[in-house]
Amino acid sequence: MLKTQVTPMMAQYLTIKEENPDCLLFFRLGDFYEMFFEDAKTCSRELEITLTGKDCGLEERAPMCGVPFHSAETYISRLVEKGYKVAICEQIEDPKQAKGLVKRGVIRIVTPGTILEGATVSEGKNNYITSIVGMEGSYGLSVCDVTTGEWLTTTIIGDQSKRKLLDELAKFAPVECLLSETLYQDDEIREFMRTRFNCLTEQIPAHTLDTTLAQRILLKHFNILSLGGIGLSEDGVETLATASLLAYLQETQKTDLSHLMTLSIYNVDAFMLLDIATRRNLELTETLREKRRKGSLLWVLDHTKTAMGSRYIRKCIEQPLINAEEINHRLDATKELKEAPLLRADLFEALDHIYDIERLMSKVSFGTCNAKDMIALKQSLEVLPTIKGLLVDCQAPGLISLNRQLDDMSDLYQLVDKALIEEAPISVREGNMIKTGYNEEVDHLRQVKTEGASWLMEIEAREKEKTGIKNLKIKYNKVFGYFLEVTQSYNHLVPDYFIRKQTLSNCERYITEELKKVEEEVLGADDKLNLLEYQLFTEIRDAVLKEMPRLLTTSAQIAALDMFCSLADVADTYGYVKPEMTTGYNLCIEKGRHPVVEKMLGEQHFIANDVILEEEHAEMMLLTGPNMAGKSTYMRQVALIVLMAQIGSFVPADSATIGVVDRIFTRVGASDDLASGQSTFMVEMMEVANILHHATKNSLLILDEIGRGTSTLDGLSIAWSIIEHITTEIGAKTLFATHYHELTVLEETMPNLKNYCIAVKEIGEDIIFLHQIVKGSVDHSYGIQVAKLAGVPSAVLERAKAILKQLDSGEKQVIIPPSVQGTSGQLSEKVDKIKDVVKEQVITTEAYQINETEVTSKKASKDH
Ligand code: ADP
Repeated sequence: MLKTQVTPMMAQYLTIKEENPDCLLFFRLGDFYEMFFEDAKTCSRELEITLTGKDCGLEERAPMCGVPFHSAETYISRLVEKGYKVAICEQIEDPKQAKGLVKRGVIRIVTPGTILEGATVSEGKNNYITSIVGMEGSYGLSVCDVTTGEWLTTTIIGDQSKRKLLDELAKFAPVECLLSETLYQDDEIREFMRTRFNCLTEQIPAHTLDTTLAQRILLKHFNILSLGGIGLSEDGVETLATASLLAYLQETQKTDLSHLMTLSIYNVDAFMLLDIATRRNLELTETLREKRRKGSLLWVLDHTKTAMGSRYIRKCIEQPLINAEEINHRLDATKELKEAPLLRADLFEALDHIYDIERLMSKVSFGTCNAKDMIALKQSLEVLPTIKGLLVDCQAPGLISLNRQLDDMSDLYQLVDKALIEEAPISVREGNMIKTGYNEEVDHLRQVKTEGASWLMEIEAREKEKTGIKNLKIKYNKVFGYFLEVTQSYNHLVPDYFIRKQTLSNCERYITEELKKVEEEVLGADDKLNLLEYQLFTEIRDAVLKEMPRLLTTSAQIAALDMFCSLADVADTYGYVKPEMTTGYNLCIEKGRHPVVEKMLGEQHFIANDVILEEEHAEMMLLTGPNMAGKSTYMRQVALIVLMAQIGSFVPADSATIGVVDRIFTRVGASDDLASGQSTFMVEMMEVANILHHATKNSLLILDEIGRGTSTLDGLSIAWSIIEHITTEIGAKTLFATHYHELTVLEETMPNLKNYCIAVKEIGEDIIFLHQIVKGSVDHSYGIQVAKLAGVPSAVLERAKAILKQLDSGEKQVIIPPSVQGTSGQLSEKVDKIKDVVKEQVITTEAYQINETEVTSKKASKDH
């Protein structure tokens, strides 16, 4: 479309649109934001608003739709939630001063990762944007939450770095991600980001990936001379990732981003490594199926009072520690608060008054905060001295250092308290924010506003008295403002300080110096007052902004304190104990419970179970038992207890000694990765491959029904050889649940494998699940009983029983009822074959030197 053909305003629109081609352009016209052409069609469709048209100089009217500017925020956040970027274009000069068309420009671009408010920004969750730069197998990852000011950068290198990168991303679940060129062209990564996190991906413009430019951007922003000062190398991938993220934020936010002044460089290996499957399987922050918080570990552990605390505890769950000293540091803090319920109650009471300081500070930095926000900040600061006082006698080093870093911020509190009215309005341009007594001029202007009328009356009365002009009147009109009116008959009494302004047929109009002054004051008071209050407000805001580092340090301490109080409260409420953490290998849990299932069922209904995994003689538990007996609950419970301990939480058990683990791997349940085009078995095997490649002696492995996705013999063989590999090559603590009862014979030849099963009570034809883990094995799957519980029709159950009986009795031929004859002849042969081969396999495996009689007698004894 030619700009010369359209109206000047439309030409301006097109120019700005050209500069922001990937955004929906919200173009400010009067009290509306208008969208045109394709943008209008998109917005009308997505927001369900009417599509109209506007004459634009072309033959056809331009498609147009619009939203009122005062309610634009909800529309913008709806679009951003759907993955669009919205460029907000405002008038950038005063229309009164404009010659011709008013200048317009984009003042901010709102994107999923930079939106400050709205439905996507929930209180207890961070809103992360990331930038990833990949080069020769190493990745620089920079992660930022613009709404809280948190900013982290790391480098991921070495073997399997791409997988590590994806695992790391799962920790943050970003909503927007910038990718360097090759990564952007990598379908796997983009697909992963889209399907996992509904994340918008964009390519980093090639020209910004320049080391010199990156350095310049970072040095300028942090106002430093060398990148070493913030822990970045001069030309590493992490530096490029950090700089490209900063450049993007600057470009979209168009502010100096003064709340993004603390960059943390972290090491991925400093935390427990959890792959994506494990995070999901263990339902750390949301449930596997419904993706709900209720039913997750976070749901159990989060008793926090503040938004900062809630985000922090989520973060700690996402990245458990691996250093025993640090873990004990946290556990000691939790312990002290658990043992002091009164102190905890007082702390909770104080924490309850604290608003989201981090998000308030980002509003301060963006200049979007109002007086209400400042009051919220003040109310939050007000309780800090109380908290400091409450912590003063604490002994745990973690609490002592926390209190030391907790600034009581009394100077800022006093400033805001002295200046701002508690019930401040939403708008910062309409006054009523500044307290009386804070500023003389404000007080004076307010007086002028309220007392203006009486001052005029006072002048009138005084002048009447002084001059003797009996009908002297102060009047007002738009041209002259206030004036004194004297009828012709009193003209001779007019004193010389009256200044004539106008002569009418029957009267003269005058002003005096004094009247002029009062007039100026009265007439301008409102505007002046609003402007002055706004200026004073911005001064206060700037003063707060200057204290940003102190405020952010303090809010980090509040977050940590809130988390410790929460963990202590949870421990107290559900009767958790302090785990003993060691740098050794062994894992012993006495009467452990599953934190989530227990909370759902109620403590009295949950059956506690022990676990002993010890070096050299009990590294692997081989778990058998029917479906529904509680195998997955048990295995997950062991993983969760270890993970909770490494967060700094007490654990649901009577006692626990835990050798710190470096990684937890899980392979449980059905994978819902079918969308990625892989078969269930393929996904299962990929997860197994990952485990076998990366597990170390210090890892904890939870393997549930490995091999069930293929034929019985294949599955059994795979499970078998995996067990061998883990016990002989890796030595990791392992819980291995299986339906292949044939595997239980391994106990006899493998010193470090122990059989366990879940007790079931048979009553007649029915079974009761006791959920109790006991030594030994079962070779009954009770599949038919479980099917009965699930409501499978009785005719099918009866037939299944009959088939089972025939198979169990060793009959070569399953009797086929006449109704299905003709189709199952081959089937019976197959079943038969399976039975034979399985038997043979178990019997003839030389590696374990099991002779036929042993196995048969074992089988026979188990059959009873
Ligand atoms: P499996 O993996 O053996 O099929 P699950 O672990 O899924 O069995 O457990 C089935 C159900 O049994 C769970 O939903 C839970 O309600 C209940 N359950 C499991 N373990 C226990 C326990 N220790 N105490 C009480 N109920 C339990």
